[in-house]
Amino acid sequence: MRSMIPEDYIYFDYAATTPLDPRVLQVMLPFFSQNFGNPSSIHRYGQQAEAAVETARETCAKILNCQPGEIVFTSCGTESNNLALRGTALANRQSRNANHILVSSVEHHAITHTAEQLHRVFGFDVEFLPVNRFGQVDPQDVAARIRPDTAIVSIIYCNNEIGTINPISEIGEICRSANVPFHTDSVQASAYLSLNVQELKVDLLSIGAHKFYGPKGVGALFIRKNTPIIPIQTGGGQESGMRAGTYNVPYIAGMAEALHLVQSEREELSASLTLMRDRLIGQMLEEIPQVQLTGHPTQRLPNHVSFVFNQVDGNLLLMHLDRVGFACSSGSACKTGNPEPSDVLLALGLSPKWALGSLRVTLGKHTTPAHIDLLCDNLPSIVSKLRA
Ligand SMILES: *Cc1c(COP(=O)(O)O)cnc(C)c1O
Repeated sequence: MRSMIPEDYIYFDYAATTPLDPRVLQVMLPFFSQNFGNPSSIHRYGQQAEAAVETARETCAKILNCQPGEIVFTSCGTESNNLALRGTALANRQSRNANHILVSSVEHHAITHTAEQLHRVFGFDVEFLPVNRFGQVDPQDVAARIRPDTAIVSIIYCNNEIGTINPISEIGEICRSANVPFHTDSVQASAYLSLNVQELKVDLLSIGAHKFYGPKGVGALFIRKNTPIIPIQTGGGQESGMRAGTYNVPYIAGMAEALHLVQSEREELSASLTLMRDRLIGQMLEEIPQVQLTGHPTQRLPNHVSFVFNQVDGNLLLMHLDRVGFACSSGSACKTGNPEPSDVLLALGLSPKWALGSLRVTLGKHTTPAHIDLLCDNLPSIVSKLRA
């Protein structure tokens, strides 16, 4: 299969988004033309579209090891996180007066900003769990802070900025014995780790297709049967009333195919990316002074490399890398002209001075050892030039 990425400009930002797998595009195309029906229609066009959506649901359910009825299709990972957190918090307040929300301090903004709104507008008591210097939540901290009135616990599976993997099943065990709904943002994990919700012991799990070679603008939320939750988008009765809005049939079919492909190929891909990841990390830590790896050295996504450099402007570093042909990221949504250090990096205990010099290099299935060599050849001199 031919890479869609030009060879003289190297894409190292797979955590931001991934190129659509051409096999996925083929599955999607008929739903833009002859199979254009609305799954809610009674006639044959509708039946055909409905069959596609239900087949996609079964594919996703098989991979998550859940019932098809426990999958809700959404418009993205962000929406899945919003539905999980807001929908569960409000339902649990209504049914049992639960007013406490427990989230980690290394969540994506789709969780932290939703939690902040639930505090500001709805008066929830939101508590942020600390993490260790690698960005991991200690399950015992969850056990210590969970309360009878905790409405939901939400802990990210793998962090997007630092790649660290959290001990989800251990936290799930604790939430289950406390009878508190447990959500995990699994958007970064989906391409590399198991999404078996029984082993993970989660009640809610979010995914977003464009992080695993599927289309942008579609996601899903696993909601374990009997989890108290209310919809946050109301209208027609789609998704058993849990998420109104006409089905995005091509994207839903594409997401299911992408998830199936990425999950059946993930072990092979992980093995080759881990080698490249560790070579890049090892070589840069050796060659560049005043650099730290952020996130866990081994409990991290196989495609994820992230550093902080002392006395380097992270945005300037990205611009220099772009100029010589590397598409990298600072790790956060931080844009030029907004030199705020990332909350995630500060939660690790890094000083703002170090945190402003962050770099995230994320690999993917079109990354080759030659790409790693080229970056290794260029990064040390760019960093030293920026420090001069
Ligand atoms: C990308 C991402 C999201 C948001 O997903 P979208 O589908 O882009 O809305 C949420 N959480 C994490 C960890 C992510 O990496």
